Amino acid sequence: MAISIKQQFEELISVEYKSAIFSASQIAEKYNIKIYLIGGIVRDLILKNQIKDIDIAVEADAIEFANLLEKETDCEVIAIQENLRTAKVKFKNGVEIDFASTREETYTKSGVLPVAHNFGCSLEKDVKRRDFAINTLGLKLTGNDKFTLVDYFNGYKDILNKKIRILHDKSFIDDPSRIIRALKFKVRFDFEFEEQTFTLMQDYLNNVDKTMPLERIKSELKQYFSIQKKGLYNYLIETNAYKLISNNPIKEVDETTFQNEENLWFIYFVLLLVNGEYDERLNLASIEKKILLEVKEMLNRKTPNSNLEIYNEYIDKNDVSLNVYYVISKDKTVEKFLNALKQIKVLITGKDLIELGFIPSAYFNELFEKILKEKLEGKIQTREEELEFVKQFIKKEE
Ligand code: ATP
Repeated sequence: MAISIKQQFEELISVEYKSAIFSASQIAEKYNIKIYLIGGIVRDLILKNQIKDIDIAVEADAIEFANLLEKETDCEVIAIQENLRTAKVKFKNGVEIDFASTREETYTKSGVLPVAHNFGCSLEKDVKRRDFAINTLGLKLTGNDKFTLVDYFNGYKDILNKKIRILHDKSFIDDPSRIIRALKFKVRFDFEFEEQTFTLMQDYLNNVDKTMPLERIKSELKQYFSIQKKGLYNYLIETNAYKLISNNPIKEVDETTFQNEENLWFIYFVLLLVNGEYDERLNLASIEKKILLEVKEMLNRKTPNSNLEIYNEYIDKNDVSLNVYYVISKDKTVEKFLNALKQIKVLITGKDLIELGFIPSAYFNELFEKILKEKLEGKIQTREEELEFVKQFIKKEE
């Protein structure tokens, strides 16, 4: 029996999006083209989740369809992607919708982007290229049975049963980044892996292709690590998914030791990579490489002792480096630096020194260092105490 999710559509889609979708449906019907809401949005409607962006599949050429929309209604094509035959359209009320031509995909090498072909094919062929059954659902936006589901892989049942299931046995070999996507959906929705899917995932992870590019895995990991939940890192270790990118990760991470939750995804990333040799396929930005190197160095050096040593050791280090190093080592000197020493500053300026009678010279820096050392050791604190302290060096200089 056809399942309609008109009610969820009415409740969860904004008035602006509804009006844009209505225009698109009218034009599609006029030209006898079938269009569908597709993928994540249909899944999220069924789950009654908040809707972020709208993807529409066009069973024809989406760029030509977007041009028709622009010609016949009040909207503008603002971007197109020739190779994938997709178009982004901005409607008069400000909302933007992505239109994609239905297509098939063929993988030539594991982890490498597939070759797209047969644009404008049937939706049935299009959904075969997708990752999990929960993401294959279409919602008809044209014809007499508008708002009914098109469900070629029993995705509706999987959503109700909270199951993540791949569409064919080679799915993870074609695109190993789907493993991280699977974890992302599992954690985000609190779903389970279907048995065979989990087995095939483990089979792949016992046999990871070490030559595949890592771009897609990196980008999926970034999304995974951005989920606002605890336990993401340990789950990646527990399920062996770390093997996609690391041979020897830090194994157990106590998230309560994080001193700072900014750049969380990169903190996790360094924890995965810090023990191993740098892999060129990671293609890290220079700042990211620097952080990785800083953490490695800290793990291999003697712990600083005095407050001055601690200060000098950490003051120029990146915050993320300090965080990761602390999570791994629990080194109390980092805690001391972040919570106390880092805030200590010399309050007097060169002008104050001149007023005291010093002649401007490179010696000023030495004086500031002396003051800082006294402050770090807790011997002086206020500006007045700094002035008093520095006076003793006037005589020495003369
Ligand atoms: P999110 O809510 O995280 O945005 P989404 O399902 O909308 O999830 P997207 O990454 O925007 O995910 O992808 C849109 C659709 O494209 C997915 O629903 C899925 O059908 C398909 N897709 C995305 N990545 C892959 C992949 N690696 N392999 C196969 N299909 C994919």
